[in-house]
Amino acid sequence: MGAALDEPVLLLNRLYAAVRIVSARRAFSLLCKQLAEVIAVEEEGMRTYDFADWCDIADVRRELEGDQYRWVQTPRLKLPVPPVVRLFSYDKFPKLETKLSRRNIFARDEHRCQYCGQRFRLKDLTIDHVNPRVQGGENTWENLVCACYKCNAKKGGRTPGQANMMLIRKPQRPKVDPNRKLRVGPVQFRSWKAFLNNAYWNVELRES
Ligand SMILES: [Zn+2]
Repeated sequence: MGAALDEPVLLLNRLYAAVRIVSARRAFSLLCKQLAEVIAVEEEGMRTYDFADWCDIADVRRELEGDQYRWVQTPRLKLPVPPVVRLFSYDKFPKLETKLSRRNIFARDEHRCQYCGQRFRLKDLTIDHVNPRVQGGENTWENLVCACYKCNAKKGGRTPGQANMMLIRKPQRPKVDPNRKLRVGPVQFRSWKAFLNNAYWNVELRES
């Protein structure tokens, strides 16, 4: 049961944009306080439930699709862990920002030198300023990439154009924490898919 309360739940803001992953414990607390509603992607389409509705249909759901959900035992009844909850208020959770750090840049670039395209171990990687600092390049997601020592040295204080070295892809700010890896079940996968469409989500589908 402890594990079910730790189950990941996708939190949406009022405008249905993914904000972050919270634990089922946190999701139930938001539902109880009527700060959020459940969003379930079902065969007939997307449905919303307030906490009372979600409790009311718990028994029926357990009979029909009990094996598809994780269940949390409360004093009164067993409740399915909702795959997605949506906040009614917009401001409480600002959109999740990923910290600009070496670790996160390496993770975003998948430990791949963005010039030669090869994968390296962490200790063999450097951070390269695409537009070099000597030419006014800043520390931003769009200007920092993973590079191997060899490519970094070869490029020196030049832009990719000046060095005639192409980036294998354009560096961008990640939408969510690139280090985050989650294992989710089929219900979450089906429901989350509707709200997440970016490649930074490293969702691994768990066998049911
Ligand atoms: Zn390289």
